[in-house]
Amino acid sequence: MTRIAFLGLGKMGAPMAARLLSAGHELTAWNRSPEKANPLIEKGATAASSPADALTRADVVITMLATPEALTEVLFGRDGAADAMRSGQRLIEMSTVGPAAIREIASKLPAGVTLVDAPVLGSVPAATDGTLLVFVGADESVFASVRPILETLGSVRRVGGPGAGAAIKLVVNLTLGVAMTTVGEALALARAFGLDRTVVLDVLEESPVGNTVKGKRERIESGHYPANFTQALGEKDLRLIEEAAREHDLTLRVARAAHEWFAAGAPQAPDLDYSAVIATMLGEQPLP
Ligand code: NAP
Repeated sequence: MTRIAFLGLGKMGAPMAARLLSAGHELTAWNRSPEKANPLIEKGATAASSPADALTRADVVITMLATPEALTEVLFGRDGAADAMRSGQRLIEMSTVGPAAIREIASKLPAGVTLVDAPVLGSVPAATDGTLLVFVGADESVFASVRPILETLGSVRRVGGPGAGAAIKLVVNLTLGVAMTTVGEALALARAFGLDRTVVLDVLEESPVGNTVKGKRERIESGHYPANFTQALGEKDLRLIEEAAREHDLTLRVARAAHEWFAAGAPQAPDLDYSAVIATMLGEQPLP
């Protein structure tokens, strides 16, 4: 069993940390809003007063934070984790931050600390059940050392060397953002034709965006968009994809169009599900 510090107990981090605790690991938990650590402490985790404090009781650190900016703050800000890192510790970064952030962090970590990027596909139910897909960017020997821990969270696959996990996560999330906005535009066109929305959704369930429609139909029909994955985070991912495209001198017109829709919708309802972008596209007010 491993001594793990878990930093970031949001919608995904909390159930992931709970699984690691249930698996018998010695868990120290920290979150910016400290009350989110309480359910874990009741189950036997130790509370940390800062990211640096969490590191004093850990050999492995896992981060599950909103954005690259949040990750930088938690690692390198005041009482940040990096202040307390020792040679031999491993940092498993599981947020969606993209490969550029992974490169930058790796260059700033104390010598002897190993960084593993291991972002996930799957949302809160998969985080709770331990059925996430975990994409690991690491050398073979490092991968072998973190694999048993990550297998508590889902199916684990090494997708390449350092940074490859973070990169493939942006690749797959390009398809998520584009599929969602494709549904929005299809519904807008259908409405212009005067078609019945129920009929249109039935037909779209059998289309190439069928899984997206099946997963979000209840929200679309009710107008209520409770979040598993928020619109703010959806916008962040498409921003990271655009930044990566720019860095690689690549034109991604479809991703850019999807980002424009999310950038329009997210400021009005950042905490609603990312499918709320459909309501924005239809000129409707998404409800919690
Ligand atoms: P979330 O519920 O919004 O939680 C975000 C976490 O980041 C919270 O612990 C939050 O702390 C913390 N945080 C934000 N800004 C911070 C700052 N400046 N300093 C310190 N901590 C900060 O997000 P989530 O849904 O768990 O997602 C976490 C990551 O996983 C994101 O990168 C997301 O893109 C990715 N992801 C999410 C899903 C999903 O379905 N939700 C699926 C796959 C991947 P507070 O509690 O104090 O706000």
